[in-house]
Amino acid sequence: MNNKKIVMMTVVIFAIIIALVLVFSNKDKSQDQAKVNLNKLENQPMIGNEHAPVSIVEFGDYKCPSCKAWGEKVFPQLKEEFIDSGKANLTYINVLFHGKESVLAALASESVFKQDPDSFWAFHKGLFDAQPASQNHDEQWVTTDTLVEIAKAYAPNIDFEEYKKDIDQEGTLEEVTIDDELVKEVNIQYTPTIVINGVMLNDPFDYEAIAAEIEKGLDN
Ligand code: CA
Repeated sequence: MNNKKIVMMTVVIFAIIIALVLVFSNKDKSQDQAKVNLNKLENQPMIGNEHAPVSIVEFGDYKCPSCKAWGEKVFPQLKEEFIDSGKANLTYINVLFHGKESVLAALASESVFKQDPDSFWAFHKGLFDAQPASQNHDEQWVTTDTLVEIAKAYAPNIDFEEYKKDIDQEGTLEEVTIDDELVKEVNIQYTPTIVINGVMLNDPFDYEAIAAEIEKGLDN
């Protein structure tokens, strides 16, 4: 092989490498910027001012330890700083990543939301509080009895016969399925996933990044 050929081949190989790098970095970018169609969030539990300039969506799973941690470590500050002040609202969407117990908890939460939306957020917190702190999502704790106990404490005004039916006979399966379809459409890969004005965050625990994304929405 003469020198000219070696130079040509080197150039071609470099060009291919650069092209591949560009293709993959663009792919990553498009994933980060995944847009959530906010029009699809009607009839979902929302906390805060419905006309707030910034819309936050939490994709969570009651069986997920990180979601419990997010609710304890990130949400209170977020609520105080941006939700209570009317700058942002937050909508919760059920994700079903941990099998039957995720589904049972989601069915129950949809039943509470359907019957008594005002008690939804207290029930929601009660459900995460009931999750064992053992950081092991294989530990079984979601049962109809547990769900009834939690509802008695946080949503006492609901019809409990209907609530049990919604859980045991999947009465709120339609609502849970709407959430599940949205999860698939947006291609949620982990929980919690936080989306701010349609932009999916890389790290739901990075409060500075959350605040920066909200500020962007407030500037517009
Ligand atoms: Ca829902």
